Amino acid sequence: MSDRRKFVKLSLLGSAAVLGTGSLLAAPRKEQDFEDVLYAPVKDNPIVISTWDFGKEANTAAWEILGKNGKALDAVEAGVKVPEADPKNQSIGLGGRPDRDGKVTLDACIMDEKYNCGSVMCLEHIVHAISVARAVMERTPHVILAGDGALQFALANGFKKENLLTEKSEKEWKEWLKKSKYEPQINIENAGYHKDPMPGGKDNHDTIGMLAIDANGDLSGACTTSGMAYKIHGRVGDSPVIGAGLYVDNEVGAATSSGVGEEVIRIAGSHLVVELMRRGLSPEDACKKAVERILKFNPAKAKEVQVGFLAINKKGEYGAYALQKDFSYAVKSGKEEKIYTSKSIY
Ligand code: ASP
Repeated sequence: MSDRRKFVKLSLLGSAAVLGTGSLLAAPRKEQDFEDVLYAPVKDNPIVISTWDFGKEANTAAWEILGKNGKALDAVEAGVKVPEADPKNQSIGLGGRPDRDGKVTLDACIMDEKYNCGSVMCLEHIVHAISVARAVMERTPHVILAGDGALQFALANGFKKENLLTEKSEKEWKEWLKKSKYEPQINIENAGYHKDPMPGGKDNHDTIGMLAIDANGDLSGACTTSGMAYKIHGRVGDSPVIGAGLYVDNEVGAATSSGVGEEVIRIAGSHLVVELMRRGLSPEDACKKAVERILKFNPAKAKEVQVGFLAINKKGEYGAYALQKDFSYAVKSGKEEKIYTSKSIY
């Protein structure tokens, strides 16, 4: 335990307390015996991890910054901008699959080592939603901007208006419309690897969530997506929701998610994973516990959808867990560059 400090929290409710309503707690509360585990940081040993196989390329861009002792915040922004700008990636940024009305709407958020965070929801026409989220964080007193307000803010801050709907995504959407009953197809993005394959195949869906530790030992994270294909216009998933799609606590670690966002939001997934690491769980065990919570509250649904969590602790240990198989993630550090596949319930 030499590399981590343990703190035992004592309950402040040591004696009987009178509540505002006049009710009296029957017996004095005992000392709480849970522990917060605050890890010693990994200094001089930067690392970046991100969701899915396409995370590998994104990690390379992040490493350009991390490897030169740059800040984790700059690294995660630069990293996720790679799939955002790639028209072949149909689940993030340019070329993302549209909603059922044919509009590409982006969700993104970013969080640094000081609990600073910024988010955009349902943003249209701007390729780098992550940079708009960062601008929200750094240039406004707010955390979230949504819809047209987010677009107006982006334009006022020098971002370029572009058409994000590529020919390929438009063609596929028109195909989908033929059979569509205008119901949200909540599992459509996961279909690529455990149901009917979608055009584009397994590597062409889902969100990028990226977590990094820099040479100073500080953590940051970024998460960006075009969300579930053919969603109802205005739908927001977990990815831009701080605590759901992403959470960073510089004393403990960070977590991110991919999969059906509705299931992640319900359990405040990424925050839950970080809090479980705070209690001493390894990143993989913390991710597993969060996945099991989804399974517990709705086992029938859990069989049908994909949710995967990816986490890193302050020591630089990382891990992941998913409901369905084939949730992959990419790792880059001074020691390794690798793509792993997480364990899963099914
Ligand atoms: N989590 C994203 C959403 O619900 C989609 C995904 O990662 O597949 O919008």
